[in-house]
Amino acid sequence: MITFQRVAKAAGKHLTRSLLAVRRALGARANRGCPACGQAVVGFFRYGDNAEWGCPNCGASPRERLMNHLIAGHVLTVPEQGAVLHMAPNEGSLVRRFSTAADYTPADLDPGRYHVPNMQRVDLMALDASDRYDLFYASHVMEHVPDDHAVLRNIHRALKPGGEAWLIVPLWDRPTEDGSFDMPPRDRERRFGQWDHVRQYGLDFADRIRAAGFDLEEIDASAIDADTRHFYALDDRLFRARKPLAPGAR
Ligand SMILES: [Zn+2]
Repeated sequence: MITFQRVAKAAGKHLTRSLLAVRRALGARANRGCPACGQAVVGFFRYGDNAEWGCPNCGASPRERLMNHLIAGHVLTVPEQGAVLHMAPNEGSLVRRFSTAADYTPADLDPGRYHVPNMQRVDLMALDASDRYDLFYASHVMEHVPDDHAVLRNIHRALKPGGEAWLIVPLWDRPTEDGSFDMPPRDRERRFGQWDHVRQYGLDFADRIRAAGFDLEEIDASAIDADTRHFYALDDRLFRARKPLAPGAR
């Protein structure tokens, strides 16, 4: 579905991306860095309201850069000997990082949309695995599922005790508003920013995660020191949910 809003965002992205290429060609210093591709860059290109959204070299978004920064800094650990379920794996740098795990499953409701080897079809509404994964990763997925309470419970069950779900969703500064797939796509686009979103989350997403039985740590880019945040143009917020160990376990 193409709307004026989306065309305008795409045009702005293309324009600022071109300007970065021109600046680089004219010899501008590459005094910023991208933690997703490891390259020095002259700046980042705009997307929508975010003037420093994308890496001109690899296209990484602020959330993709945040994840790479947290993993590279050992704030987050990829379970190398464990099992990883990676939903909607369209961030190449994270496919590279997660696929080093012994048991890596890239998956989506519509696996044909991805060029990642061994894509599996997984419907999170029907995910019935139990104590199976050490890590579950889903960035900008939860706003697409019909019943996120049910999906969070499914993710909780699918994780091993001590396993973690790393969740990122689009956020606004108001409470979460839920819709449904019964709404016309045009209404969903108007209310939730995209035709295939069925809700818009606020910070109370945290309450839904805890209600599913998780311990939760929230890692916001704004808490990272200002120089580092500026250098990598980090933004966004990670909800790091951990399935508690069984009572009495250590
Ligand atoms: Zn990059």
